[in-house]
Amino acid sequence: NFVSAVVPPDEIGVKFDDVGALEDVKKALNELVILPMRRPELFSHGNLLRPCKGILLFGPPGTGKTLLAKALATEAGANFISITGSTLTSKWFGDAEKLTRALFSFASKLAPVIIFVDEVDSLLGARGGAFEHEATRRMRNEFMAAWDGLRSKDSQRILILGATNRPFDLDDAVIRRLPRRIYVNLPDAENRLKILKIILAQENLESGFSFDQLANATEGYSGSDLKNLCIAAAYRPVQELLVKETKGEQNDGVPVLRQLNLDDFVQSK
Ligand code: ATP
Repeated sequence: NFVSAVVPPDEIGVKFDDVGALEDVKKALNELVILPMRRPELFSHGNLLRPCKGILLFGPPGTGKTLLAKALATEAGANFISITGSTLTSKWFGDAEKLTRALFSFASKLAPVIIFVDEVDSLLGARGGAFEHEATRRMRNEFMAAWDGLRSKDSQRILILGATNRPFDLDDAVIRRLPRRIYVNLPDAENRLKILKIILAQENLESGFSFDQLANATEGYSGSDLKNLCIAAAYRPVQELLVKETKGEQNDGVPVLRQLNLDDFVQSK
């Protein structure tokens, strides 16, 4: 079942340019992942430039961690596998360990590869708890062991990239294996502007549409919030056009996105 989940780099369809803002994050990922995967020979000398086996992206929901992970695989020319807790913990106990081993042995054949563990806290969250199932505990231990077992030759070309909104739920054993932790922050006005330009790049906007005004009005919005807001706003002119059609009123058949007033869209955030 992993075979169908693997996306080759030329089929991912997201590049760094599709990720608005987050310039520092992209720069860090370039040094930590893209260069070593693209030019491993430059990192095979000496002791200082050690390959990084694990990176954690953490930050509020909807800030583009998944988008970044996909774009990173494209830029690094790496295959991409996305897993979550439910990929590995099947209801047939015992399978989870086997699946975990299969994942890692499969990954070494696919290198360069990025294994994206979304909601890493739910797959590899804090240990213990009276209610933790034995099977979950074994799967987690197997995961850690397989991860540790990546040969250093492979580790340059196999990256575990975890993402979480709840970094404090991760236990020390996981944190230690994700030595590089990168904060993916909510965008400020300047960065919201960059994200909006990407989200609205292909839209029909009314003349005089002000990106600045929208960016300034959306304090606290994540990239995902901005996307949802724009989807809701793009739907309005379609609805209006349909109403005009049913009334038999004149229309030019092209929905145009007008400057949006946030008060009209409170429920979209
Ligand atoms: P979660 O923590 O809830 O899983 P996330 O941090 O992984 O969220 P994404 O799923 O990557 O966030 O973001 C959802 C969608 O929001 C993206 O597919 C994209 O359309 C939009 N988006 C978020 N951040 C950005 C960004 N920086 N640039 C462009 N689009 C963005």
